Amino acid sequence: MSSDRYPFSEIEAKWQHAWESRKQFRAIEDPTRPKFYCLEMFPYPSGRIHMGHVRVYAIGDLLARYKWMRGFNVLHPMGWDAFGMPAENAAIEHGVHPAVWTYENIDNMRAQLRKMGISYDWDREVTTCDPAYYKWEQLIFIKMLERGLAYRKRSTVNWCPSCQTVLANEQVEAGRCWRCDSEVTKRDIDGWFFKITDYAEELLAWCDRLPGWPERVMTMQRNWIGKSEGAEFDLPVAGRPELKLRIFTTRPDTAFGMTYAVLAPEHPLVDALVTEPPERAVVERFRAEVARQSEVERTADDRPKRGLRLRAEVVNPFTNVAIPLFIADYVLMTYGTGAIMAVPGEDQRDWDFARQHELPIIETVRRPAGWTGEAYTGDGVKINSGFLDGLAIPEAKRAAIDWLVQQGLGTAKVNYRLRDWGISRQRYWGAPIPVVYCSVDGMVPEKEENLPVVLPEDVQLSGKGGSPLAEVASFVHTTCPKCGGKARRETDTMDTFVESSWYFLRYCSPHHERGMFERQAADYWMPVDQYIGGIEHAVLHLLYARFYTKVLRDLGLVKVDEPFQALLSQGMVIKDGAKMSKSKGNVVDPDDLIRTFGADTARLFSLFAAPPEKDLDWNDHGVEGASRFLNRVWRFVITHAEEVRGAPAGASTTSTPDSQAFRRTIHETIARVTDDIERDFHFNTAISAVMELVNALYAFETTSRDRLAAPERAALLREAVETILLLLGPFSPHVTEELWEQLGHGESLFKHAWPSADPAALTRREVTLVLQVDGKVRSRLMLDVDADEARVQGLALADDKVRPWLQGRQVERVVVVPNRLVNIVTRS
Ligand SMILES: [Zn+2]
Ligand SMILES: [Zn+2]
Repeated sequence: MSSDRYPFSEIEAKWQHAWESRKQFRAIEDPTRPKFYCLEMFPYPSGRIHMGHVRVYAIGDLLARYKWMRGFNVLHPMGWDAFGMPAENAAIEHGVHPAVWTYENIDNMRAQLRKMGISYDWDREVTTCDPAYYKWEQLIFIKMLERGLAYRKRSTVNWCPSCQTVLANEQVEAGRCWRCDSEVTKRDIDGWFFKITDYAEELLAWCDRLPGWPERVMTMQRNWIGKSEGAEFDLPVAGRPELKLRIFTTRPDTAFGMTYAVLAPEHPLVDALVTEPPERAVVERFRAEVARQSEVERTADDRPKRGLRLRAEVVNPFTNVAIPLFIADYVLMTYGTGAIMAVPGEDQRDWDFARQHELPIIETVRRPAGWTGEAYTGDGVKINSGFLDGLAIPEAKRAAIDWLVQQGLGTAKVNYRLRDWGISRQRYWGAPIPVVYCSVDGMVPEKEENLPVVLPEDVQLSGKGGSPLAEVASFVHTTCPKCGGKARRETDTMDTFVESSWYFLRYCSPHHERGMFERQAADYWMPVDQYIGGIEHAVLHLLYARFYTKVLRDLGLVKVDEPFQALLSQGMVIKDGAKMSKSKGNVVDPDDLIRTFGADTARLFSLFAAPPEKDLDWNDHGVEGASRFLNRVWRFVITHAEEVRGAPAGASTTSTPDSQAFRRTIHETIARVTDDIERDFHFNTAISAVMELVNALYAFETTSRDRLAAPERAALLREAVETILLLLGPFSPHVTEELWEQLGHGESLFKHAWPSADPAALTRREVTLVLQVDGKVRSRLMLDVDADEARVQGLALADDKVRPWLQGRQVERVVVVPNRLVNIVTRS
């Protein structure tokens, strides 16, 4: 390694220690100052930080330090999302207790984070597997239970055979477990749910009221909530009008084109309709085949739909015609009513199915001229639709619903794709669900004074199905809080997404013992002003946290409606075109990087290599470039420290065009960097601007030698160097803090105000003079302010656009109004 590198190891250790011992970044509520709550998504303590962590924490730290310098009271905390399956899997594989494994990992990662020199207020560290933490979500669970927002039911769930646990819909990605990538299967199981569907409308409405969130994330949330407006109505079974099939449709206007209807294979009406043993057998076989597919497979656009025609038929109430009835895999019991009317003319999926089964297709919307497609979903006028004919689609929808209501057949209806949040996990390493089952009283919530229900430590983890807590007799056997008799504890634990749904509130008063958080502190700090984390949480964590915050608000605990004012979703760190992973062998270890180049270089590179929302393609040359740049800054400041220290502080005087231009560059850089950070997180272009200023500084240092008076030169060097350190501070805090000290400053760089661009320096010292000939404007001339009159006259007379007007005439006199105009008076 080259020896001319600045001594980053010493410097970084020195300042990490100094910031820590001064508690420089401790956040204290102060209502007289504007607050800024800067938060990066807390990590799962896997044991090692990776480059993705370096990137997100460098972004958060940049914003936190920048806001400190802008005079904000900053809260920038860090903690650990400490429950979860890897700890349990490690325990099963290596026989180490999940608690031991987790706390050791936390110690390792905390040490690594400290080496990055992030401005965390470590006094506020929160660890979610601490009973002092999860106690409060057990309390909230009980309050949610009282309000019907938590409930237990038997349901068909997504089951990961490898993780041996239930997964929420949000945790199934393309039919696979979000964590281990195993194929997800179905199971009927009793479990606990949070009623997030009660908040569907509000969660959706607020998607339009959070301009600080990326549109992409809001779109994903809107789609996940999946609101659709339409109608619900009954189709009587032909010949058995006492049996009715309830269907939901977003297009009631197309009902005249309904040529068949479809039930989900699991629909309970199927059992009432299919009574003959031979048909039953066929139906059962079909059901079994469908049960082997995931919801994603069943509803995928690109695969053939499988259906089975039943003997029974239903009646289209709009036409009074009996139509075929099918069960088919593409209709889900979990959406709408589990049954649909099929309108192949205006629905592509129905069109495909109708062609496959040779069913009639009726067009109910007039196609545009030249239409050659299949199903038509565009605008148009209704046709073949009885009393709806001639109407446009929106009016026809309304008229169809009015008719259904008048006939007593149905109603307008809003449907959501969002399902309640299944929070039961059959795993050990999670927060116990605080209820017991008593043979007398049934399910009884634990008493508040008995909380927390502590997770027992003496547990055998085999990984062989079922909840490990069920095997811990001392945990399971308890007394009923109501009657005092024998009772059994619930042995499911809560989804770890419950812990991450409120940790940002706990940070506001992490040591508060009498409640989840201190009201005043939460009212002061919340909402989080800037949240930073990966796009992979677009629906999972971010939707749950929004929901949970609204629940806490409705319980009277917090006043905010939304937890996160603004969100920055950073891209991934990739190398050689792939996400860094052990299996691909393309991992860059942050520790190696910090050892070789220092944390400041690692941070600078990760901020410079790509705009934060884009993927960052790792590049060793880029790291070396960042290192060279910091060394270049270091060399300049150290070489000129004495000269700079001797110069007066404050605005520099500029006596020559060169010094004016240099000072303008300094202040243009301030304006650019500030704008890049504030406006759209363009950290990479901000760094480019500082690099250009450093180049200009080197150039000015050379050209000003011997040409500029020493005090003026030193003052300009000082203004430039200090500006560079201040602008670069939030990106690479250690080296800038050290150089700041070397320049003789007694107080931390990060207590200094962020520089502001001097408008006087930014204005170009030039004016435009109007050139007239005999009182008529003939041209314009750009000149230095207060230019010498003889020079102005000479330039005016020589001007290309003026000269033709002087041809054949004599100049009588030239009138110069300084900084405004020149009038040339002539005679023939
Ligand atoms: Zn899994
Ligand atoms: Zn009881």
